[in-house]
Amino acid sequence: MDEFELIDRYFRRTVGHGVALGIGDDGAVLNVPNGRQLVAVVDTTVAGVHYPDNLPAADIGYRAVAVNLSDIAAMGATPSWMTLALTLPASDPDWLEQFASGMFAAADAYGVALVGGDTTRGSQTVVSVQLLGHAASHAILKRSGARPGDGIYVSGTLGDAAAGLQLLQKGEAGDFLKERFRRPEARVTLGQAVASIAGAAIDISDGLAADLDRILTASGVGATVDRQALPLSAELLAWAGADEARRLALTGGDDYELCLAVPAVDEAEFQRLARQAGVSVTRIGVAEATPGLRISTGGADVRPLKEPGFRHF
Ligand code: ADP
Ligand code: MG
Repeated sequence: MDEFELIDRYFRRTVGHGVALGIGDDGAVLNVPNGRQLVAVVDTTVAGVHYPDNLPAADIGYRAVAVNLSDIAAMGATPSWMTLALTLPASDPDWLEQFASGMFAAADAYGVALVGGDTTRGSQTVVSVQLLGHAASHAILKRSGARPGDGIYVSGTLGDAAAGLQLLQKGEAGDFLKERFRRPEARVTLGQAVASIAGAAIDISDGLAADLDRILTASGVGATVDRQALPLSAELLAWAGADEARRLALTGGDDYELCLAVPAVDEAEFQRLARQAGVSVTRIGVAEATPGLRISTGGADVRPLKEPGFRHF
């Protein structure tokens, strides 16, 4: 199977919204809706670095799209189109079939069309997805908009994916936690719903402490987070116990939940919009003028946080 057969067989699909020219030419041509701005994100996943080598191909495809949808969600944007740069050691039809099914499952959930890409042979599997979306310019969620007094919120539960990754690596049971790693649910609907009232947002890929710190630095503020307020799943609590669950919630990566700063006057409306979007949100702390991230235990015993998140280099 040559490169062009491979593209035709696994990746060429009928086109989606706003696609003037899709796969098959030197470039894709896309119509951005009137009055909207283009939002572009890209994320690369490497076997053995971002996921265990034995992760099924369908999950590799799903995750590659989901982590990009999560960036789009953190911008409050609407995802529309993607390109795929794929490096593979071999063209294995079973692998490609599974990979494409997982990739399109994640893309179809939000009507995202694959409009182009690049296919190369290389020594290991590298999947790079670029996602393009759009947003109203007045409702783009940035990292830099947190202000002292804002409530700090997170969606869903935290720490599950870090636990799930450990289970996958050890080959142990625990479907819920493993699923949270294998198939992260991007909070696209929540991001769009609250884009015009949240002050700042980031998606949690490297761990709450590391990612919240990016909001704080970009905004020139600090925050205190209550470790007892961190939302934990029953499954994580049962597997890890309360102390370890809180540690994972604070520093474990790969959850792809959103962390948001919300002005105090808008908190009730924010909670209403989140409920309407069908996503649970939890107030975990408050932004403050003093820089840095501090952790309290039920509001008492406030200490600066040390342990940083994952860094590639
Ligand atoms: P070029 O040489 O002009 O870069 P290619 O020959 O690499 O183009 O690709 C041919 C067409 O197939 C292009 O439209 C490209 O976007 C698309 N394509 C290549 N690889 C992929 C892929 N993995 N998924 C989707 N489209 C792809
Ligand atoms: Mg060309």
